This record gives sequence, C-alpha cells and structure tokens, in this order.
Amino acid sequence: MSILYADVDWQPLIDVLDQAKQIHIIAHVCPDADTIGSQLALYHGLKCMGKKVLMHNRDTSPYLCRYLAAVNDITYGEIPAIVAASDVVIAVDAGSLSRLGMETAYFEGKTLINIDHHASNTCYGTMNIVDARYCATGAMIYDLLQHLKVDLCAASAAAIYAAVLTDTASFRLANVTASVHRMVADLIEAGADVQKAAQSIYQSHKAARFELLKYALDSLHIGDHGRTSWLSVRRDLYQKTGLSGEDSEGFIDYARSIEGVDVAVFIREEDEQVWKVSLRGKPPCNVGYLAEKLGGGGHQYAAGCTLYGTEHAVQEEIKRILPDILTP
Ligand code: 5GP
Ligand code: MN
Repeated sequence: MSILYADVDWQPLIDVLDQAKQIHIIAHVCPDADTIGSQLALYHGLKCMGKKVLMHNRDTSPYLCRYLAAVNDITYGEIPAIVAASDVVIAVDAGSLSRLGMETAYFEGKTLINIDHHASNTCYGTMNIVDARYCATGAMIYDLLQHLKVDLCAASAAAIYAAVLTDTASFRLANVTASVHRMVADLIEAGADVQKAAQSIYQSHKAARFELLKYALDSLHIGDHGRTSWLSVRRDLYQKTGLSGEDSEGFIDYARSIEGVDVAVFIREEDEQVWKVSLRGKPPCNVGYLAEKLGGGGHQYAAGCTLYGTEHAVQEEIKRILPDILTP
C-alpha cells in the first residue's frame, strides 16, 4: 500500500479517535457513492480497531450502494438516542454543515470532524481535514486507514473502490493520477470486486428510468452558440414514472457529452418549485464558482445548488451568472 498524499497531517484526528468513546459517522444529504463508501470504509476500519462506531444519515442510501457490506447497518431519519450519545461525529464528503441535514444543536458538546475533498468546504468542523487534491473522499479514507495502521479488509476496499469509481466518473477526470491507479490496484488485491461494482452501479437501472430519460432528453436544448446544454425533469414526471431523484443520477452526462458544450446544466424538481441543480464544466469553465454564487458548492468542474421558483426563473437565474465563467 502507498499513501496518496504524505503531507496530510492525520495525527490530531488519530489522537481524537484514541480518546473517543463512541463515534458517529455521517454522510451528506441525498447521499452518493462517495459519501456512503467513505462512511462504510471508515466504519469497517474503526470496527477492526475495536472502536464503538455507529452510522446514521438523514436520507436513505442510494440503490447503487446496496451491494456494499454493512450498508443496511446505516440508520436514517430521526436520530436514535444511542447515536445521539456519541462524543465524536465524523462527517465525510460534506462541503458545509447544512449538507449534513441535522439541527446544529446536535453537534453541541461533540467533537465534529470534517473529512472532505471539496474546494468549497466551509471548514465547519472542530477539526477540518479538507484537501481538494483528492479525487474522492474515499481516497482520503484510504490514506487515513494506513495512518491508523488497520489492514485494508475486503469490505473497506470495495467501499473505497465504489467511492473512487463514481466520483471520478469512472476514472475519466484530470485528478485521476498514477497514484490513484496504484491505490485501485491495492483495492483490487484487498478484495474489491470490479465486476460486481460495475454491475451494481452501472447495470442495475430500473426500466422506468429510461421512460424518465426520454422525458429528460425531450427537454434538451443548446444555448450560448453551442457552449451550454440544458436538461430538466419536472416533479410530475417523477410522479408519472414512480421514480425519485436518485433515478436520474447520471442524466447530466448526456448533456456534458455533446461536442463543443463547455457547461452542462441539469435541473430536477425535488419539490414544488424546489430545483436541485447539477452543473458540469469542461476546463477552464469553473462551475464550482457558479454554484457558490448561487448558494451551493462542489468542485471546479462538477458542482450543484438548490434554487427556487418556476423552471424558467431558475434557468434565468443560472443564465445571469453564466457569462462570468463562459470565458471566450
Ligand atoms: P451532483 O450534481 O452530482 O449532485 O453534485 C456534484 C457535486 O456538487 C458533488 O460534489 C456535490 O457534493 C456538490 N453539490 C451538489 N449540490 C450541492 C449543494 O447544494 N451544496 C453544496 N455545497 N455542494 C453541492
Ligand atoms: Mn466526493
């Protein structure tokens, strides 16, 4: 095994973990495979060390993570009293406190550790280990487990693999370095099943998803002389197909894959006039900046936010800021 970034100081966190009586690991709202994979990998590692660890999130885990060991041990919704009794909370992959979806009072009197790779992270923790060089928070957990000197078990390896696979859009982003591939080699040697991951993540879509995709592609339009592409799904279409937001995961890739498009926008109506906005940029179009201007966050080339109003009003709000990042 090898450390991805040797200059990260994990020692203060290790000291906190040494003293911790009970640790609550928490993922972000509307969880993706990076946050859940990080949560599970850290859970398995800390369990191996004999720590008392619990996992609790606001929202249920996405369907694509169901093959990962212990995913059913994650509780969600109202915080059970046993979880609330934790003295240390570790947030993984959450760029801001609001992304945890908990009342701020919950964290009072607890040590909150923020482990994340979003450049836009607001450093809301008692301790913040935030490093945007990492391609996924799961890769940070890979380094942390080595510092904790726990053996990488098959369950942790599979969880980290799922995190890295999905957050790098299947190893297609510029942050996929040779070291990332060396880590993946380690994960496979430790028991991560590549085929099982591919089948569970990319080949297990509900047939109805493609009904929804038809509607989404119907909405496709190109703007800014071919440089922007737009997709949207209204709430009634989710109702019509019996699907939810997670079933449209990946739709934005269609908008991004168009030749000449520098910025892709996918908006989906989560609740009446509440729109979850997904943004993707091709270098140098920094959609992270755009998302931050609109009250959200993310990475330079993959970011998001929530906006309110009619579909048209939301698109206009985005269009107002677009010129700032659509450099000639
Ligand atoms: P996605 O479009 O896949 O939902 O999100 C892309 C990236 O932007 C992810 O890294 C995600 O964490 C981040 N992101 C999405 N929505 C929000 C948001 O409302 N606030 C913040 N801070 N980050 C977001
Ligand atoms: Mn991530």
